[in-house]
Amino acid sequence: MVSDTDPRQRKVRILATLGPSSDDPEMIRKLYLAGADAFRLNMSHGSHADHKKVIAAIRKLEKDARRPMTILADLQGPKLRIGEFADGLVQLEKDSIFTLDRDESPGDRSRVSLPHPEIFAAIEEGARLLLDDGKVALKVTAAEPDRIETVVEVGGPLTNNKGLNVPDVVIPMAALTDKDRSDLAFALDQGVDWIALSFVQKPEDAAEARKLIHGRAALLAKIEKPSAVRRIDEILEAVDAVMVARGDLGVEIPPEEVPPLQKQIIEKARMLGRPVVVATQMLESMVRSPSPTRAEVSDVATAVYDGADAIMLSAESAAGDWPEESVAMMDKIATAVEADPSHWARVHFTETMPDSTSADALAEASNGIAETVSASAIICFTTSGSTARRVSRERPSVPLLVLTPKLKTARRLGLLWGAHSVHTRDVNNFEQMVAKSKRMALRARIANGGDRVIVMAGVPFGTPGSTNVLHIVRLLGDELQRHTQAEIARDR
Ligand code: PGA
Ligand code: MN
Repeated sequence: MVSDTDPRQRKVRILATLGPSSDDPEMIRKLYLAGADAFRLNMSHGSHADHKKVIAAIRKLEKDARRPMTILADLQGPKLRIGEFADGLVQLEKDSIFTLDRDESPGDRSRVSLPHPEIFAAIEEGARLLLDDGKVALKVTAAEPDRIETVVEVGGPLTNNKGLNVPDVVIPMAALTDKDRSDLAFALDQGVDWIALSFVQKPEDAAEARKLIHGRAALLAKIEKPSAVRRIDEILEAVDAVMVARGDLGVEIPPEEVPPLQKQIIEKARMLGRPVVVATQMLESMVRSPSPTRAEVSDVATAVYDGADAIMLSAESAAGDWPEESVAMMDKIATAVEADPSHWARVHFTETMPDSTSADALAEASNGIAETVSASAIICFTTSGSTARRVSRERPSVPLLVLTPKLKTARRLGLLWGAHSVHTRDVNNFEQMVAKSKRMALRARIANGGDRVIVMAGVPFGTPGSTNVLHIVRLLGDELQRHTQAEIARDR
């Protein structure tokens, strides 16, 4: 079993969604061994009992692998759906009239029920209604309090409860449905590390979730609405991470606008030091095929070159025929990109400006100093994880080893570019800090005798606070011989 003595060589993290193809303990272990750093539970599917089993399996794996594991619970959010049809299926013809109303009776080719009163209040003439991931498009011709008349712009088949996207208006919906609240309570009770919020429209949505979460998990906003794109700066301020959720985003806005937005969102997130995940259809054809298309390989590579913190698998790992192969393929693509000599320059195309704090100044300097003295690694002592986030933001070329006395922090950092976290006892003084840095560097095999490592910490030790120490530690030539293997392995 891989253990915490072996950090991944790859910097970008892989977030794998678990589902029917991958929810047994053996497959979860295989995905981890193939390269998954973090696991996503999609709360749109599965019962709490199912999710509970999966969480237990991940925590068991965490113990066996002696390495913190990251769990993200993705709340369904206010996903809009139409009602049902008398025949289960209708065929909508282009240019025909189709009405959505508040009548709960089964629909036909002229009408269907829409069980979301908020839409009737907010919709405007001229707005588009997109059904089934945009495969069917309607344009509103009359907006009345209890019926919306539309003309079919793009026809096609429509079945019961298909999803609905309303890109042109902000719907005054609560950020969390009753189901989300119950899923959130469950996920927090289970000790998940991250909560993902779907269909965020405005920063207040994030603030509302934040209040309910109350520090028990970190918060990620999925950017999949045009309104969220418009307010991305404020949303970034309100959350701990974002996801470029290209599935719904590419329905709500024209698909050709997604790649520039992906670059812009990644850049803004990186500037603020918020981890950013690129998601959806990354290796879509691997749901059914053991090998991806060239275009998909290129898409994964682009996200890595853009400097995203993490890349995600959805149906590929959750419901496909090749879950393990999908993770392995993503790992291979990312590894190949990171080995490209131009990768570093491309990633550093985004220039991050440090805040005028000592912690940021030191984090920024750590990168340069590591190069000047050819250090083998940067080692961060952190309680909250904020030092690690600042250093990761600089996208250092050397390994980043994070030592934290808080297991919660170690787990949360699993979405962070290049960070290898170890849950370990805190140090109480400078000598302990230096000694532990050396032992941990040797144990993780990121430095050898004679190497230098950069150590960052905050003094006074043992009190959470901001980083104010940057120390260059030189390992002695016979450093490894000075410690018995047992002593190194024992360090907790
Ligand atoms: P979903 O989110 O898979 O929950 O829809 C991701 C996306 O929309 O891209
Ligand atoms: Mn989505």
